[in-house]
Amino acid sequence: GEALAVSARVAPLGSRLVLLLVEDLTEARRIEAVRRDFVANVSHELKTPVGALSLLSEAVMDASDDPEAVERFAGRMQIEATRLTNLVQELIDLSRVQNDDPLEDAEPVRVDELVAEAIDRCRQQAGTKQITMAAGGTAELRIWGNRGQLAAALGNLVENAVNYSPARTRVGIAARRLAVPGGDQIEIAVTDQGIGISEKDRERVFERFYRVDPARSRATGGTGLGLAIVKHVAASHGGEVTVWSSEGQGSTFTLRLPEAGSVRDRDRATGGPL
Ligand code: ADP
Repeated sequence: GEALAVSARVAPLGSRLVLLLVEDLTEARRIEAVRRDFVANVSHELKTPVGALSLLSEAVMDASDDPEAVERFAGRMQIEATRLTNLVQELIDLSRVQNDDPLEDAEPVRVDELVAEAIDRCRQQAGTKQITMAAGGTAELRIWGNRGQLAAALGNLVENAVNYSPARTRVGIAARRLAVPGGDQIEIAVTDQGIGISEKDRERVFERFYRVDPARSRATGGTGLGLAIVKHVAASHGGEVTVWSSEGQGSTFTLRLPEAGSVRDRDRATGGPL
């Protein structure tokens, strides 16, 4: 009688244990599959410009007696080389934000400086497309975080806003302080009047190498890694990034990050939990 009672008690425990082990294995397999996909994606993304460069250099050699053709091919080689450089740079950025703890050298970072830097980065492209950029609410706000990573994150959002918008539209950057329990946050919203993102794609744009329209993304020098970097930076700072969009009308990407001078800093100063 007692043995039965014990085994009846142990059996569900045992099956739960087996279930946990199976879940663990499934998770390990999933991580392995994601890693394999990533390597396959990187290889593919690298092969494309390298293949094009190889073909174009052959074409240049064949066309050596036609200066106009040589110039045309050389121009395309330059585009492919830039694409390759962007990709390698973004891969380095991604690996950095994934491996470095941003809070190890965190400091108060001024939002107005971050915004000015991001706008500067896109000034040329915005100028060509006659896109107006306007920022507001940034005065006196400071984020607690890693300056380089925060600049990369905001820069990517503003760059995308310009890239995926038609000419003569407006990109707005609005910052404000949000009072929330557990430490105030800074919210930075980047709004464009661009092509927008469908509901189905909205869930996936933060994945590495995911692009709604690969041809368009490549044409603008996109790598499909920008939003993955933004998402990682936000999460590792204890914040988040969200997207609102209406197809054909525009998108708003919103970053929420810890404010400098809030509970986190005080915890840090007193050696309390981060
Ligand atoms: P990419 O280098 O292709 O811009 P991202 O990771 O930055 O890569 O973005 C992933 C995809 O999300 C883009 O290819 C594009 O399809 C879409 N996307 C990103 N930002 C915007 C935006 N502001 N408006 C419309 N689509 C966007």
